Amino acid sequence: MAKHRRRGWPEAPEPLPGTVVDNHTHLPVLGDDGDPAVDDDVALPPGEAPLTTAEQLTRAAAAGVARVLTVGCDVPNLAGTLALARAHPPIAAALGIHPNEAPLHGGVREVGPDGLEPAVRPHHTLSFDDAFARVAALARDERVVAVGESGLDYYRTGPQGRVHQRAAFRAHIALAKELGKPLQIHDRDAHADVVATLLADGAPERTVFHCFSGDAELAAVLAEHGWYASFAGPVTFGANETLRAALRALPPELVLVETDAPYLTPAPFRGHPNAPYVMPLTVRRIAAELGRDVAETCALLTATTDAVYGTW
Ligand SMILES: [Zn+2]
Repeated sequence: MAKHRRRGWPEAPEPLPGTVVDNHTHLPVLGDDGDPAVDDDVALPPGEAPLTTAEQLTRAAAAGVARVLTVGCDVPNLAGTLALARAHPPIAAALGIHPNEAPLHGGVREVGPDGLEPAVRPHHTLSFDDAFARVAALARDERVVAVGESGLDYYRTGPQGRVHQRAAFRAHIALAKELGKPLQIHDRDAHADVVATLLADGAPERTVFHCFSGDAELAAVLAEHGWYASFAGPVTFGANETLRAALRALPPELVLVETDAPYLTPAPFRGHPNAPYVMPLTVRRIAAELGRDVAETCALLTATTDAVYGTW
């Protein structure tokens, strides 16, 4: 009989020799009982407790992850995400309506190309305009340092949803420009249409491809326009040589780092939950690919983060 492998929190990695910022994570919005306040898939194994926000920040700081940018991208998480940023100095927020939420607000209920039923929840009775109005109101807060994540996801959204997704993406582009804040882009299997939409509407001055998943060709497009690429755990996965080639092809001053926790845990902890304190594994791999030492890479990544989002 196969031995049961416990998929708990990864052990703490060796601390970094400098500090970095997690450019994109999803810290759970916890209720008074310490459980997620929102019925959300925090991607924890059964029986595994979420870390409290204080524990998240303590572990992150010990690893060299001094600050985090947490993303609230559905209606139930917007206000709670901003509240986290207001309550904890190391946390800033990004707010948006996720590209896979937009079709649900538009009444689309199709099974996606990934074969999954859409997860319809009570807040989807709100129209997209009403949902987005909440983003627009909250995103004016100074603790909100970016708009997003928004973009296109042709992995999860089928043909009926795409028109809603594109309209939502355009609304986020316009809001980022109106507020003078950076835009975090979600691009899954949709590189060409994401680039075309940005060029048609005019990209915000600071545009970040969160969890960049392109090749050297897309990296060249980003370099041409001065758009940023934020790398997550997949850059450490053995099979992702194409992604690492894209990283090496980018001007280093356009490179950012993130966890996208609780998803995309870096090697060797794939299948375990992710958290900002695990990010040193990704930072070290970026340093190796850039051919720079780790301390220098930390300083470079932090300077780029501050150039995009300001400091908090
Ligand atoms: Zn995300």
